[in-house]
Amino acid sequence: MNITEMCEKAHKTAKEHGFWDGEMTWKDETMNPPNEHITIVKRTTTLNSLFAKLALIHSEVSEAVEVLRTPNSLKWPPALREELADILIRTAAFAAALGLDLEKAVQDKMTKNEGRPWKHGRLA
Ligand SMILES: [Mg+2]
Repeated sequence: MNITEMCEKAHKTAKEHGFWDGEMTWKDETMNPPNEHITIVKRTTTLNSLFAKLALIHSEVSEAVEVLRTPNSLKWPPALREELADILIRTAAFAAALGLDLEKAVQDKMTKNEGRPWKHGRLA
């Protein structure tokens, strides 16, 4: 499964389970950005619900942190793997809902990162 397929499947599964009840109509317009940011959002899905979706991605990161804080270290590799999967799945569903080409974005960003200086010019 490639990243684009993962995005479509994650979004489809999320919709089938009651998430993303509004329809997003934003197409990936990275080559031709929309004039007004607010025109991106249609129907019942508002910017606030997008913020909530992003917060849920963050909640999965927090769950990964909690896994590492668990005293029984023998249990955390599988649990950590599951939380990392949750982060990817929620991110993939979000990108698909907005019509973003996440696969291209990842490729572009990895290429950009390859050309950046040591620690991206920061101390840590
Ligand atoms: Mg989780």
